[in-house]
Amino acid sequence: MRALRRFTVRAQLPGPLAPLQTLATNLRWTWDAPTRDLFASLDPQAWDACGHDPVRLLGDIPTARLAELAEDGAVADRVAEQAADLERYLSEPRWYQSAPDPGLPAAVGYFSMEFGVSEVLPNYSGGLGVLAGDHLKAASDLGVPLIGVGLLYRSGYFRQSLSLDGWQLEHYPAIDPQGLPLQLLADPEGAPVLVRVAMPEDRTLSARVWLARVGRVPLLLLDTDIEENEPDLRGVTDRLYGGDQNHRIQQEILIGVGGVRAVRAFCRTSGHPAPEVFHTNEGHAGFLGLERIRELCTGSAVASNGAGPSSSSAATVSGSGLDFDEALAAVRAGTVFTTHTPVPAGIDRFGLDLVRHYLTDRLLPGLSTERLLALGAEDDPATFNMAHMGLRLAQRANGVSQLHGSVSRDMFGGMWAGFDRDEVPIGSVTNGVHGPTWEARQVTELLGSPGPEGIAQESSAVSDADLWALRSALRSRLVEEVRRRVRAAWLERGASEPELGWTDHVFDADVLTVGFARRVPTYKRLTLMLRDPDRLRGLLLDAHRPVQLIVAGKSHPADDDGKALIQQIVRFADDAGVRHRIVFLPDYDMSMARYLYWGCDVWLNNPLRPLEACGTSGMKSALNGGLNLSIRDGWWDEFYDGANGWAIPTADGVEDPTRRDDLEANALYELLATQVGPAFYDRTDGVPHRWVEMVRHTLTTLRPKVQATRMVREYVQDWYAPAARAAAVVTADDYAAARGLAQYRDRLDKAWNDVRITGVDVTGLPETPVVGSPMTVRAGVDLAGLDPSDVVVEAVVGRVDDADELADPVTAAMEHRGDGSWEIAVPLPHAGLTGYTVRVLPHHPHLASSVELGRIVLAG
Ligand SMILES: *Cc1c(COP(=O)(O)O)cnc(C)c1O
Repeated sequence: MRALRRFTVRAQLPGPLAPLQTLATNLRWTWDAPTRDLFASLDPQAWDACGHDPVRLLGDIPTARLAELAEDGAVADRVAEQAADLERYLSEPRWYQSAPDPGLPAAVGYFSMEFGVSEVLPNYSGGLGVLAGDHLKAASDLGVPLIGVGLLYRSGYFRQSLSLDGWQLEHYPAIDPQGLPLQLLADPEGAPVLVRVAMPEDRTLSARVWLARVGRVPLLLLDTDIEENEPDLRGVTDRLYGGDQNHRIQQEILIGVGGVRAVRAFCRTSGHPAPEVFHTNEGHAGFLGLERIRELCTGSAVASNGAGPSSSSAATVSGSGLDFDEALAAVRAGTVFTTHTPVPAGIDRFGLDLVRHYLTDRLLPGLSTERLLALGAEDDPATFNMAHMGLRLAQRANGVSQLHGSVSRDMFGGMWAGFDRDEVPIGSVTNGVHGPTWEARQVTELLGSPGPEGIAQESSAVSDADLWALRSALRSRLVEEVRRRVRAAWLERGASEPELGWTDHVFDADVLTVGFARRVPTYKRLTLMLRDPDRLRGLLLDAHRPVQLIVAGKSHPADDDGKALIQQIVRFADDAGVRHRIVFLPDYDMSMARYLYWGCDVWLNNPLRPLEACGTSGMKSALNGGLNLSIRDGWWDEFYDGANGWAIPTADGVEDPTRRDDLEANALYELLATQVGPAFYDRTDGVPHRWVEMVRHTLTTLRPKVQATRMVREYVQDWYAPAARAAAVVTADDYAAARGLAQYRDRLDKAWNDVRITGVDVTGLPETPVVGSPMTVRAGVDLAGLDPSDVVVEAVVGRVDDADELADPVTAAMEHRGDGSWEIAVPLPHAGLTGYTVRVLPHHPHLASSVELGRIVLAG
C-alpha cells in the first residue's frame, strides 16, 4: 500500500538522553567527530542505515532500545559530556571575541541562494552552496556573529542517476522539514512567524521561517509551502534553480526582501543583535538592499498583509524619513557584495519589464520604481542586471580569488569608465574550505588540527612511511566506496546481481588514483581527458604505471549539451576493457565528495582559463594531502608553487577552441605520463619518497592557507569591520553623514558634466631628466561651482607606449593654490618614455575611495 502523504514524528527521548535532541539538531555534529561517534555508538547498524543522519537515527531506534540506553550509566555520561562540550563551544569566547579590531559589527547578515552545510540538509547545488556552508561553519568556529539567510527548497537539488545508455536522469525527492534539523521560528506566544512580501495583482506571498543551528550561527530558511499561499505561490521555494524567469524573480524577491524581514523577526523574537553589515553572496539576494532602503525611508515594518507600512508591528529600524539617496548612502556603507562568476552568461539578468512588474509600490512602499530600476541598469537598456545592482548597492565588493578579482575588474570595468582596470574598486578574498568538515580524521589525528587560526603545521616529525601509510589507507577506503557505488549505479541502470561480479574488482588500492568531480558547464571541460581516447586508454592500462580515474558531476537539468558530455564519459567507462580503471559515479554530492577528497592521490581540474572563479574541490583534496594537477585558474593560479602539484600549461592566446583543447589535453597526458606517474611509482622500500615529499609540502604549506577560517578572518578584518565602521559613521546623529553624502552626490551630479581641466603645464624639468628628477605639474580646473574640497585633482605620471597609454602610473594629489590653480612636484618614477596627465575625481570623507562613484574628468 502506498501512503497518501507522509510526515515525520520526532522521538520522545527519555530523561538522560534528552540532550541528544540538541546534539542532533545543532549541525555542529557534522564537523565534530566525538558527537558523531556518540550517535554511531547508540546503534551502529541503524546509524549506517540512516545515512549518518542523527535526526533520523533518533526516530529509527525503537523506543524499547532507547529506554535501555537511558538506563546505561556510561551512555548517559557520554551524552552529558558531549552536551557540555557543545554548550562550551556555543558560549565560550572565541577568536572574534578577542579580536583587536575596533568597531567590529554586532552581527552580519549573510544572504545566499544556497547553503551546503551537510547532506542531511540538501539545500545546495554545487560550489556556491558548499562555500556558503563552509563560511557559516568557519564563522561559528571563529565566533563571528553571522546570521545566514536563504530559502528552504522542497527538493533541494535533483538526484542524478543514469539510464542504461548513460543519459542523466533526474529525481526530485521531496523533503519534509519536520524530518530535518530545523525548528520553526515562532513568536513569544508560540505562533509561527510569517514573513510576507507583496506580489503583483494584489497578491501576497507568505513564508514561514525555519531556523537551522550551524554551531553558533543561526541560519534562517524561508519556506512558502504553506496553506496561506495560493497554489502557484506555494511552489516558489519548490526547487533550487528550477523554473522560468518569473519563478526565479519570485525566489529572489523572497530571499532579498523577505529575508531582511525574516532577520528582523528573528532578532525581535530572539534578542539577537541586529546586523550592522549585510553580505550579499552573489547577485541573487541583491534585493535585500532595496528592502533596507525602504526601511530607512518609511522607518517602519511592513503591515502583516504585505501591503504598505503599518505601525502595529514594531519596527527594529529607526531613522525614518530619509529620502532615497540618503537611504542609499546609508545602505551602501554597510553592504558587502561578493561576485562569483567570471562567465558573463552566468550573471543573473531579468527583463526590465518583468522587474517593473514585481517592484511595485505594495512591495516597497514609497520608493520610486524608476530609481529602483536604475540600480540594475546595464548596457542593454531592456535588461536588469543583478550583479550591477549588487555593485551599486554595496560600498565594498570582491571576487573570490586574486585572478578572479582581476577578471571582475575587467568584466565590470565599464561601470567605472575612464579608470584604469586595476583601479576598479573590486577586490578579492580567496575562498577557503572548512577543515573539520573536509579533512579525514586520520589526517587530523596524525598531524593535529591547524585550529581556527590556521597555524602552519610542521609535519616533519611524521615519517615518510607514516605519511604514505596514511595516504594508502585513505585510497583503500575510497576504492571500497567506488566498488559499492559502481555496483549500486549498475543496479539502478537495470543490471542484475549475477552480472555484477566484476564490480568487486573495479579499481585497485595500489594504483595512482585521479579524481575529477564537478558540475558540467562547458568551461569545466569534463571530456578534455577524452580528447585522444587511445592515449587515455594507454595511461589507464599502462603495465607499470597505471592510472585509475574517477569522474563525477551533475549537468543542469536543462543542459542537454552537458548531459551529452556525461554520456561520452559513461560510454567510454562502460567498455569492458577499461571499466576496472575508469568509473563515472552518479549523484555527486557532499556525501560522495568527501571520499574523493580523502582518497584521490591527484585532483584534476582543467577549466578554460580564466573562467573558474576560484574552485574549492582542489583545496579539499589538498587538506588531505592530495596533489593538484590543474590549469592555473582560480585559486591554483595563486597557490601553485612548483612543489605542491602540477600546473597544466594553458594555451591562453590560442583563439581556435579546438586547437586550444588539443594543446591543453596533450599537455595533460604528457604530465601524467612523464611527471605524475613516475613520481608515484618510483619507490624505495615500498615508499615513493619524491611523492611523499610533495604530500608533506602540501600539508605543511597549503593546508593552513586553504582554510575557510583564513577566508572568514579576511572578510572580518578587511570587509566587515570597515563596512561596520562606515555604517556607524553614516548612521550617527540621525544619519547626518548619510544626508551629507547624499547632498554631496546631488551637488556632484548637477555640476560634474561641466567640470573641466582648463590647462596643464609642466615646469622644473632639468635639461636631461633622470629617474627621481622633480617635475612640477600645474593645472587649472573649472569646478563648475563645486568647492575645491569636493574634488581631488591628481597628477598621473607613468610609462607610455606608442598609443600614449599610461602604464604603471604613479598618481599624486595636487595642492590647491591661492590663485585657483593646482600644483604638485612629482619625482619621475621611471626611466624611458614617460607621459603624464591630470584628472579630477570626487572627494568626500565618507566615500570608500575617490574611484567609488565612477566619476572622472581627464585633461585633454
Ligand atoms: C567543493 C564542492 C564543490 C565545488 O567544487 P569546485 O572545485 O568549485 O568545482 C561542488 N560540489 C561539492 C559536493 C563540493 O563538495
